[in-house]
Order: sequence, then structure tokens, then C-alpha cells
Amino acid sequence: PYIWEMEVFEKWESEIRGYSRTYPTVFASASNARQVDEAGRSYVDFFAGAGVLNFGHNNPRMKRAMIAFLEADGVAHSLDMATTTKRDFIEAFVATVLEPRGLTMKLQFMGPTGSNAVEAALKLARKVTGRREVVAFTHGFHGMTLGSLALTGNEFFRAAAGVPLENVVRLPFETAPGGGLQALDDYRAQLSDVSSGLSAPAAFVVETIQAEGGVNVASAEWLRAVQQLAHDVGALFVIDDIQVACGRTGSYFSFDGMGLDPDIICLAKGIGGYGTPLAMNLVKPEHDARWLPGEHTGTFRGQGLSFVAGKEALTYFEDDALMTEVRAKGERMASALLAVAQEAEGRSFVVRGRGMIQGLDVVDGAFAKAVAAECFSRGLLVGPCGSGGRVLKLIPPLTIPDDDLTEGLEILTGAVRDTL
Ligand code: PMP
Repeated sequence: PYIWEMEVFEKWESEIRGYSRTYPTVFASASNARQVDEAGRSYVDFFAGAGVLNFGHNNPRMKRAMIAFLEADGVAHSLDMATTTKRDFIEAFVATVLEPRGLTMKLQFMGPTGSNAVEAALKLARKVTGRREVVAFTHGFHGMTLGSLALTGNEFFRAAAGVPLENVVRLPFETAPGGGLQALDDYRAQLSDVSSGLSAPAAFVVETIQAEGGVNVASAEWLRAVQQLAHDVGALFVIDDIQVACGRTGSYFSFDGMGLDPDIICLAKGIGGYGTPLAMNLVKPEHDARWLPGEHTGTFRGQGLSFVAGKEALTYFEDDALMTEVRAKGERMASALLAVAQEAEGRSFVVRGRGMIQGLDVVDGAFAKAVAAECFSRGLLVGPCGSGGRVLKLIPPLTIPDDDLTEGLEILTGAVRDTL
């Protein structure tokens, strides 16, 4: 285990796959932003499935809809056949998310996981362009399957492939306003210089906020420059919005209002609503048409319960109430972190984030780990991310009650102070 060594997990180690964020207890129930363990201890959950549980554990709207679906013997699984739940989800998504933005993108259901969506985006971009290379960015995280792992920057994860991962050009990810343009220009120049040996890429795949990579927030100007470069060299511009869409930043997509028009948007995690697995790509119609029906298939491409819960999740976007709350709660999170960062003199802590994804970069992975352990003992679940695990990532459910948010922030800031 990454954070704690515990007898219970040693016992399980041979039977279950290792997961890097285990806690030394066994959780038994959960509601909104709280999980309760077997011993009856309640924890505020600032981890929340890494962007899966945006609407909280056991969200009552979704739970009711799912129970009704089960009681009515709804179609739980149907491969690619049309079902009422699939149709209702698609119609709600188009009406709530696409139409208000004037988007005419097609929905492609990809499977249960984010990696399925990224993998499919890579495959389609290669088919559309007939090119092999793909551009990804430093500290990016896009999944664990071979193609998505090739895009992922983290060397520890890459090493699991055993051999070098190919066909990826890695450019620096940029967070500073006005920064990073030179690196893009240099790459552009290399592409037009035959002696560089570089061939034009099929796609540029980018996160707007690198959630696993350390809560690194890209500047909108740089993202627009990446998009422009992609267009200029005939590559697809792909946004992996898997962790930070579905309202996380205070709007449905993390890039709303930035003047971006991606060819493909990868979604997973939060769109299933309840933790029910669902991954999909939104694809411009001209690219979507390049795949013949049945050319890219998969068994678990959205199951009935995921469509039912996912449709209920969309009801949160019918008005601006939740997004207004997200922006306000996000500011509270950021100011609590900034206060503790300022107190930690000589430590140069940095706070980064947007909306309800906020990171406290404590620079030192061992320190972050000690704080996370202390938070756990005080009743808060929070996980480290970024290189060497040096950033404490706060990604609570968007629906977290004010009291729980206050309690979680107090535990976290108290744990940081007491660990200094
Ligand atoms: N892209 C991003 C931005 C992610 O955060 C993740 C998961 N952390 C993935 C892709 C991969 O998703 P999954 O683990 O469901 O395959």
C-alpha cells in the first residue's frame, strides 16, 4: 500500500489487485460526502472516487431512479441495441449539454472506463488522419491501457509496460498565462523541417487541468495555441475531460468559455453519476462518420443503470444552482488552502485549482503523505497526487453540505499545521 501498511491489506494482497490509495480500514456505507467504516467511524470524503462521485455517494435522486428501473425490470445490459434508458440519456445529454452550446457532436459510447475513451480517441484520430504519432504533455494522465499509457507522463506507470511506449511526442504542459508558446512554435518549426525526422501527428491530447499530474491548471491562451497548432498541422484536437468535466470547475465542461472547439472530448468518471461506469467520446460528425457501424465495438458500453443514473445527474445542469454553489465552495476551498500556505513560512507551498478541484503543493511527498495519514486519523479522506505525491488533492463531491466542507477544511488545515 502507498500510504499505510496494514495487516488487513497484507492479508488481501494476494487476492486483490494493489491499489495505490488504500486506507487502514474497511468502509461499509456512504452518503453524500461521507463514508462510514465497519467500526462506525465517519469520514469526510475529499477523494470521492477521483471525480466519479461528483453528486455524492448514494445520491437520492439517482438511487430512486435506479430502484424504479430495477423494479420495472429495465434492460440492464443490451450490447449496442437501443433501449429506452439509452435513448433517454442521449436525449437528455443533447438537450442539456450539447444544444445550449450549439454543439453538434455525436456521442460514441466507449465502455466502462476512461482509458476506453482515450484509447478510442487515439484509434479514431489515427484512422481519420492516417498518421501514427500523437502529441501529449508532461505530467499528463490518460489511463493505463497501452495507447492511453503512452500518453501518460508518469514514469512509474509507464515502467509497468516493461518496454518503451512508442509514437508519442511529449511537449511541456503550460500553466503560466502567456507562457509555453515558444515550445509550440519550436515543434511547429521542427515539423516543417524534413531533417528533424518528425512526422506530422494524428492528434494533440490535453487535459485542461492535470488532476493526477498535480492539479496543474493550463492557461486558456496556451490551450487555444495548442488547438491552433493542431489545426494548422492537420491533427485532431482532443480534450481529455475525464476527471474535471461534469460540473467540477463550475461549468459542465472544464473548458467552457475558453473559445475552444475540440474535435473529440473524452468523458467518463462523473457522467455515470452514481459511480456506475460509463465512458463516452463526443466526436465531431465528420470524424464520427469515419467509423463504419460496428467497426469499433465493446461489450460493456453503458449499462442500463449507468444510463438511468447518468440521466438523473444531468438534472443538476438544468439550472445554474449547483454551478453557482460549486464556484462559491471552490473559493472557500482555495482560501482555506491559501491561508495555511501563507502560515507555512519558508516552505513555499503553492495552491492551484479551479472550482472544486484544488491542490495544495507541499513540495515534499513525505510531508504530503504524513498530512494525509494525519487527516485520516482525524476523519478526512484526502489523497496525494503529482510527481512524488507532493500535492494534496481536494476533489470532494460537488453536493458536499457546507458543514462537511467546513469540517474537512478544518481537519486538513489543522493536520498541515500540526505536521509542520
Ligand atoms: N484521463 C484522465 C484525465 C483521468 O484522470 C483518468 C483516471 N484517473 C483516466 C483518463 C483514465 O480513466 P480510467 O481509470 O477510468 O481508465
